[in-house]
Amino acid sequence: MVAIGAAIGGLIGHLWWGIAGALAVELTRQFVNLHQFDHWLRNRNRRDPPDAGGLWGEIVSQVSRLHRRKQFHKQRILRLFRELRRSTASMPDGVVALNPLREIVWFNRKAGELLGLRRKTDFGLQIGSLVRVPEFARYLEKGDFSAGLRVHPRIGEAFCIEFQGVPYGEGQMFLLVRDVTRQAHLETMRKDFVANASHELRSPLTVIAGYLETLALDEDLPADLRPPLLEMRRQAERMTAIIADLLELSRLEATDEQVVGNPIDVAALLALLRKDAVVRDAGQHVVDMRVESPEGLMGDPGLIHSAFSNLLDNAIKYTPAGGAITLRWWTDEQGGHFAVTDTGPGISEEHLPRLTERFYRVDAGRARDAGGSGLGLAIVRHVLQRHGGTLKVESVEGRGSTFSCHFPPLRLVHEPVALPDDTRYSA
Ligand code: ADP
Repeated sequence: MVAIGAAIGGLIGHLWWGIAGALAVELTRQFVNLHQFDHWLRNRNRRDPPDAGGLWGEIVSQVSRLHRRKQFHKQRILRLFRELRRSTASMPDGVVALNPLREIVWFNRKAGELLGLRRKTDFGLQIGSLVRVPEFARYLEKGDFSAGLRVHPRIGEAFCIEFQGVPYGEGQMFLLVRDVTRQAHLETMRKDFVANASHELRSPLTVIAGYLETLALDEDLPADLRPPLLEMRRQAERMTAIIADLLELSRLEATDEQVVGNPIDVAALLALLRKDAVVRDAGQHVVDMRVESPEGLMGDPGLIHSAFSNLLDNAIKYTPAGGAITLRWWTDEQGGHFAVTDTGPGISEEHLPRLTERFYRVDAGRARDAGGSGLGLAIVRHVLQRHGGTLKVESVEGRGSTFSCHFPPLRLVHEPVALPDDTRYSA
C-alpha cells in the first residue's frame, strides 16, 4: 500500500504526499477492522465473525476457535452442575459440605429439610449455631468420625436424626444427615420389649426357684428324683442370672448419657473384689492385686463394681483350677486403667471383635457349663461407654487373656475419697 502511494506520489511529483495518503488509507482500514473486531468481540454470541482477510482474518478465526472451545466447556460444566444438583436433590439422605471452620459451604435439599436450613441465608454460617444440640457440638469438636451420632433435635419429639462426618481435603468435611426416627422407634420398642419380658418372667421364675429349693430340702424325696431336681435348680439359677443381666442391660441402654457419679476409691474396690472372689473360689486360683496408683475414679460405684466384677468372674470361670489371676490399676497421662489378666485358655483372634455382642460365646458348651449368661461383656462395654471409657481385649490362645478398661484423664480423682455407704461392695 505504501509502495503504491509512493508510486502515485512520484507520478504526480509529490512523493511524500503520496506516502502520507497511503498511510492514512491503511490506518483507516486497520481502524475499521479493529472497530469491527471490537464490536464482534462484545457481541460475539449474537453476531457472525467479521469477514476480514490477512492477519485480522487469522486473529478472528483463532479467537472464534477459543470462543467455541470455551462455550463447549462451559456448557459441559453447566450440564454437569445441573445433573449434580438434580442427583443430590433426589438423594434420600442429607449432605452438608463444611469448610475447616465448620461453616456451611453447600447443602442439598434433604439436609435443608431435616435441619431447617435456608438456601440463601444459611450459607457461610457455622453449623453449630444452627444445630443447637450439645452432643452435636461435642461430636464435631472431638473429631472422631468413626461412628455416627444420633440426636433428637426437638425436645420431647420422637424425631431422630443421625449425623455422620466424612472428613476430606484439608479440614473440610461432608456431614451426612439421615432421618432415623423409624429405626430409633423400633429400637426403643425392642428395648422395651426385652425389659418388659424380663420383668414379667422374673416373678414366675422366683416362684419356681422357691418351690424347687423347698423340694430339695424335703428329706422324704425319693433318691432317684434328686439328680433331676438338682439340674432343675441349676437351670433355674441360670435363668435368674440371665434375667438379672437382661434387666441390667436394659437399664444401661435406656440412655446414652454420661454418668457423673461419685469418687470411687479403686484400691479399696479391688481389695473387696479380690476378697469376695477368694471366698467364692475356695482357693482354686491365685488372685493377685497390683494397685500402682493412689488415684481414684469418678463414676457410678454400682456400675463400676458390676463391670469390674464381671471381668473378674469371667477370669475365674474360664481359668482352670491352679491358674493365676491378676487385678491391676494404674494411671498415666492417657487416664486410668484397670486390667484383669488370667492364665486361662485364651481366645482366638477371630472371636475378639464379636466378644461384647449379646449372647456371643466362644465355646457355647463350656460357657453354659460355667453358668454364664452371655451378657457379661455386653454389660461391661455399656458401663464403660457411659463413663467415656473403652474395653480392650488381648489374648493368646492357650496362654491367657487380659481384659482392660480404659478411662479418660477427666475421670481421675487425685485424692481418693472414702467409699460411700450405700455401695453394693461395702459388705
Ligand atoms: P458369659 O456369661 O458367657 O461368660 P460374657 O459376655 O461374659 O458371657 O463372655 C462372652 C464370652 O467370652 C464367654 O462365653 C467366653 O467364651 C469368652 N470369655 C470371656 N472372658 C473370658 C476369659 N477370661 N477367658 C476366656 N474366655 C473368656
